[in-house]
Amino acid sequence: MTMTTTTPTTSGPIPLDDYAPIIGKPEVDELRALAASLRGHSVQMVNSTAVGGGVAEILTRLVPILQELDLAVRWDVMTGGNEFFGITKAFHNALHGGPYQLPPESFETFLANNQQNLSRLSMDGEFTVIHDPQPVALIKGRSNHSGHWIWRCHIDLSHPNPTVWEFLEPWVKKYDAAIFSSPEFVQKLPIPQYLFFPCIDPLSEKNQELPPETVRGILDRYGIDAKRPILTQISRFDRLKDPVGVVGAYRIVKRYFDCQLVLAGGSAADDPEGEAVLTEVREAAADDPDVHILNLPPWSPTEINALQQASTIIIQKSLREGFGLTVAEALWKKKPVVASAVGGIPLQVIHKHTGLLAHSVQGAAYQIRFLLSNPALAAKLAEQGHEHVREHFLITTNAKRYLTLFRYLQAGG
Ligand code: UDP
Repeated sequence: MTMTTTTPTTSGPIPLDDYAPIIGKPEVDELRALAASLRGHSVQMVNSTAVGGGVAEILTRLVPILQELDLAVRWDVMTGGNEFFGITKAFHNALHGGPYQLPPESFETFLANNQQNLSRLSMDGEFTVIHDPQPVALIKGRSNHSGHWIWRCHIDLSHPNPTVWEFLEPWVKKYDAAIFSSPEFVQKLPIPQYLFFPCIDPLSEKNQELPPETVRGILDRYGIDAKRPILTQISRFDRLKDPVGVVGAYRIVKRYFDCQLVLAGGSAADDPEGEAVLTEVREAAADDPDVHILNLPPWSPTEINALQQASTIIIQKSLREGFGLTVAEALWKKKPVVASAVGGIPLQVIHKHTGLLAHSVQGAAYQIRFLLSNPALAAKLAEQGHEHVREHFLITTNAKRYLTLFRYLQAGG
């Protein structure tokens, strides 16, 4: 079967002034001032899925903000079949430190797919931002060293599998700059490397405060009891998100608290492993009526927002994590968070300040029990988490970093 991705739809124009009550008018003015000399200049963003996962989530909101600042921004999604996305998922797992066992021909298939996409896409942006490994070889289409090419890596590259990284590295080196989400992910590269935090949009359907009746309606729809504690993990059904480990932690907590577990996820066009993982999670949950496994359509921002808003504690028990936008989303909603100390998560969850970190199923269960027993402390951590997100992880900060980088490259680097 050939899987082609849909044309991405963004949220449409976002009036910048709407952000002033959240970040202050001076910040909004600064964004406009930074963008002034870039007015009309073209930017092309390329990734591998229009919906599902953090990269699509960011682009859906970042593209309209940059457009609002009068940059000529285009977002293209590469296409691929099951074989290609099977290979790129194997790359993804290997770059996160897992084993890599595909035959050498997979590298050729990967390059052939990038070549096919090159014949379909016109790579003519003045600033081209390629997201993640899937489209990394599109830089082959750069003509005469024209334009500025940036590789934006969202993956936790702290322990990349050498076979895959050695294949990708020569492509990455062709770029003018690379962007990573944490200082821990930096590589030995001959090009400048920048640190950009991923970000959430406080005004998006996913993050705006919902009326209580909307939240209640969504809980009712899924048979979730609003009166008992709700532990939630929102994530694609991916083994690196450890949903089975979350069920294990819940089972320990359940001995002490009459709580419920919500595991809500969906699929992404570039992740073919979701079905198998969903089956594993269903088996782990067995027939516990207090475990709600929700396989949501990829575009369900209001449902996810409501589930986050209704939760007593949000869990993110990833085994590896580039950043974990779901953590920022939870903190922004002033939710106590228990999350694994991996990848980009400790940038967001500062232990005992903005949430609690854990290193195992037992550790996660211990921290959840601790927060359920100490609601005042849980509320304080959540409040501090909200401010931490405001300061570092909002889309306006991300837009500012892109504008600064574009201006720097425009000026000759
Ligand atoms: N998400 C979603 N539907 C789902 C699961 C996740 O919309 O079924 C969203 C989630 O709210 C977050 C993003 O997808 O905005 C996931 O980003 P994250 O960085 O947490 O993980 P990734 O999927 O990129 O590894």
